[in-house]
Amino acid sequence: GMPSVPLEPLAPRRMSRRIMVGNVPVGGGAPISVQSMTTTVTADVNATLQQIAQLTASGCQIVRVACPSQDDADALAIIARKSQIPVIADIHFQPKYVYAAIDAGCAAVRVNPGNIRQFDDQVKEIAKRAGEAGIPIRIGVNAGSLDRRLLEKYGRATPEALVESALWECSLFEEHGFRDIKISVKHNDPVVMVAAYRKLAAACDYPLHLGVTEAGPAFQGTIKSAVAFGALLAEGIGDTIRVSLSAPPAEEIKVGTQILESLGLRQRGLEIVSCPSCGRAQVDVYKLAEEVTAGLEGMEVPLRVAVMGCVVNGPGEAREADLGVASGNGKGQIFVKGEVIKTVPESKIVETLIEEALKLAEQMQDA
Ligand code: SF4
Repeated sequence: GMPSVPLEPLAPRRMSRRIMVGNVPVGGGAPISVQSMTTTVTADVNATLQQIAQLTASGCQIVRVACPSQDDADALAIIARKSQIPVIADIHFQPKYVYAAIDAGCAAVRVNPGNIRQFDDQVKEIAKRAGEAGIPIRIGVNAGSLDRRLLEKYGRATPEALVESALWECSLFEEHGFRDIKISVKHNDPVVMVAAYRKLAAACDYPLHLGVTEAGPAFQGTIKSAVAFGALLAEGIGDTIRVSLSAPPAEEIKVGTQILESLGLRQRGLEIVSCPSCGRAQVDVYKLAEEVTAGLEGMEVPLRVAVMGCVVNGPGEAREADLGVASGNGKGQIFVKGEVIKTVPESKIVETLIEEALKLAEQMQDA
């Protein structure tokens, strides 16, 4: 139905400092963002951009891409430039890829503390370069890559071990005056994960990225994430979330969005999403997205409208959107719930979308 009046929140949000991941604020009372990670080989620029398009259409607000090789690092610049949502480079071992990601215009870099030690002497340089570029760092601790010293101290990846690792990692950056940080302490067991985030939340004021690692196939992973995130979010803990599923990444966005909506932490309204555009685009996607946004302005319906640059992949990539257009050859294919319902000349795209949006809004009210 129509958006309802916001409920009283279950708990006040934890006070955290705010960082900016590109244009998306994280922490400091900002709306909780939903993110995911691509599963393509990052160096395959078109495949990666297409998956980002699909994620964007699903409502993904921040996307992370793995960067395990030089070819991947080389692809970051074009991906960061073409993606319409901020791109975070996920880097495990090589400081040189961190620098490449910063130079490429990535919105943030994630580093793995289990490995960062190997380049201790470069933490200062990373802090300096990220600071100059205004790029935050996510310190991503997880059970599987916990520092050996802490594993020995605690015997296994306990909540204490995860938190100590994260705070130690932060201190390496803080020594150089760098505090543009968000943290995750992931574990595959929701009980350990919830305990770790509670401790971390009490011990620092950095914004927190919630995640359960290796959450599993869609059903199990959905339950685990919903339970763990739900427990923390209900206490006001968590600034951005990533559901990990062994399933297409757009599924992760669906689940993450639903978790936020379930807790009244997100109000669905009209949302215009557009593809990043790639070599296939035959229209100026940005311009069309602006026109569609202007045309639908003021409609208070919980609709996600996708604006896609080509008719080849557009409808498929926007399957999760309620309504959309895939443009090409002077025409626009109008689709509803991922199915093409008609094709109209480019000049009629905006008015047709408005018509269809009104129809959908009516259906929702009747339902
Ligand atoms: Fe996807 Fe087409 Fe947009 Fe390229 S132009 S990102 S293939 S919808």
